Amino acid sequence: MKDDKRTISKKIKQAATEIGFDGCGFCRADFLEEDAGFLNKWLQNGMHQDMHYMENHFEKRVNPAKLVEGAKSVISVFLNYYPSKIQNKKNVPIISKYAYGEDYHFVIKNLLLKLLEKINREIAVVNGRAFVDSAPLLERALAREAGLGWIGKNTNLINPKFGSFIFLGELVIDLELEYDKPLENKCGNCTKCLQACPTKALIKPHVLNSQNCISYLTIEHKHNLPVELSDKFNNIIFGCDICQDVCPFNKKAKPNEISQFQPKEELLEMTVEQWHSIDKEHFDKLFSKSAVKRTKYNGLIRNLEFVKS
Ligand code: SF4
Ligand code: SF4
Repeated sequence: MKDDKRTISKKIKQAATEIGFDGCGFCRADFLEEDAGFLNKWLQNGMHQDMHYMENHFEKRVNPAKLVEGAKSVISVFLNYYPSKIQNKKNVPIISKYAYGEDYHFVIKNLLLKLLEKINREIAVVNGRAFVDSAPLLERALAREAGLGWIGKNTNLINPKFGSFIFLGELVIDLELEYDKPLENKCGNCTKCLQACPTKALIKPHVLNSQNCISYLTIEHKHNLPVELSDKFNNIIFGCDICQDVCPFNKKAKPNEISQFQPKEELLEMTVEQWHSIDKEHFDKLFSKSAVKRTKYNGLIRNLEFVKS
């Protein structure tokens, strides 16, 4: 006899845990009406700046059912990436914690494909696709719908147990599951993230203006950095964790134990002088598997020059 929906759902969550994910939840592959309205307004107001790719595939972005034929469900997963050690040398240029180890896109995608294979081999025959920040998909909204957390005023997904230093990934499959319920938003009256943002990029709760966001500027922005913000970067040269570091829900963040996400000792030990004299060869070696490669050598040098001046 075939397993029922509830049993299949339970088995998939069990399989996700066995594979190593820290959380797994399900929601219907459906139109995200409220999020679509929010995204549309955000794009119309030009808050995405140079990220023109965000304007593409709007219909798909707000409806995962359009990504896989016959799609019924989204399996959302997350993996904690809070590192065991952080850069703590005085005055060194800072990179975001998410880029300490190997590029998460590959790590999570591999685990998702393992999960899909395990589902097909041991639980139920499904057709599906794996996504990690790679396709037009509102990952945080889907994770919220799947009961994995709420979207904080800093725009990150916050899981009550793990906080927001988590990578998200999704499987969109053509099988009905027993769906989870969204969690209560526990930001309450807190505004720590809005107050802490050095460039006031969080213009109001849940609204981020990329134009002033250090994360956007150091990674996505292809031009000169805005001189009027030069004293606000706090030595940051790739990404920015400030609005997450101050979040009370990250105070209890536990270090992850995934070997691929551990920072290289060399990275943690680099001095100010070594950072500012990094050449292309050193950059390629140090960040051979890291997301920092996204900014390319010239981009990192631009960022280093900016925080030096
Ligand atoms: S990532 Fe940094 S610059 Fe961007 S909103 Fe958060 S604190 Fe502000
Ligand atoms: S710092 Fe406060 S307001 Fe901002 S996301 Fe965290 S809990 Fe929510």
